[in-house]
Amino acid sequence: MDIAKEKRAIDYLKNFQPQSEPYYLCYSGGKDSDTILILAKLAGVNFEAVHNLTTVDEPATVQYVKSNLDVWIDTPQKTMWQLIAEKGMPPTRLIRYCCEKLKEHGGKGRLKITGVRRAESTSRNANGGFVKIIGKPKTTQRKAEEMDVDYEINSKGGLVLNMDNDENRRFVEMCYRTTSTMVNPILDWTDADVWEFLHHYGCRSNPLYEVKDLGDTYCPVGCKRIGCVCCPMKGSKGMKSDLIRLPKYRDNYLRAFSRMLETRREKGLKIPEKWKDARSVMMWWVGDDPLQMSLFGEPEYLKGACM
Ligand code: SF4
Repeated sequence: MDIAKEKRAIDYLKNFQPQSEPYYLCYSGGKDSDTILILAKLAGVNFEAVHNLTTVDEPATVQYVKSNLDVWIDTPQKTMWQLIAEKGMPPTRLIRYCCEKLKEHGGKGRLKITGVRRAESTSRNANGGFVKIIGKPKTTQRKAEEMDVDYEINSKGGLVLNMDNDENRRFVEMCYRTTSTMVNPILDWTDADVWEFLHHYGCRSNPLYEVKDLGDTYCPVGCKRIGCVCCPMKGSKGMKSDLIRLPKYRDNYLRAFSRMLETRREKGLKIPEKWKDARSVMMWWVGDDPLQMSLFGEPEYLKGACM
């Protein structure tokens, strides 16, 4: 285990700790959030760990989160099914409205601890920092200049700090209530760092990591990443595997697509040629061509579907 990384993460959490309220610790139910939860305890900082239910969480994840008495569960105002009808389209890789509405809405005006890691995605790689501040860019940059803070601007206009010193700490304390500010203590940890740390502290993490048959490319040796059921980020194979494994969710998605089509008709919105009905929307969504599929018979993931 990389003791230096662990010590630095603990120092970050201690040093950026807000003076008047607990941290808001973003707990997803995955291995990275278990890691920050343990780190926050080791650091002895005040925190409130919150899991934002997405309504399309894996059932095993919901159970795992509920079994963790340190974590408080927050329910969203609208379910994924309601959002799909309201937005008039399913979430896609490029238009992930559900993350913003279901996962990232909590902790407004609070200093957040996240389990974001560079190793998890290229965009995080490019945009991350040990502290990231989003919102009010002109004001925060002006303040950063005035306070002589060592910062960078990432490609999305966020302000990133990679140093733990007095100026940076005072700056964060001053900014976090009016922006979205995140402390990312395990930003540069590898998968191996995370697993070694969790094993060392006796945490097995979400049982989904031990399941070996969740789909061949998405989860070759157990589930590498825990996400929502049929998250578009899983790609075609991962989405199809979820639909086969969890048919109740598949049926809920189909019902949501049917309501979505009704709403589009009521609003007089154009309906794409490939969205003939809920089933064809689902085929399009998982990367098949519904206009071609009828030639090959019913796809596996639609067998026994409610509509
Ligand atoms: S389905 Fe994917 S994109 Fe949507 S909230 Fe869940 S993780 Fe985010």
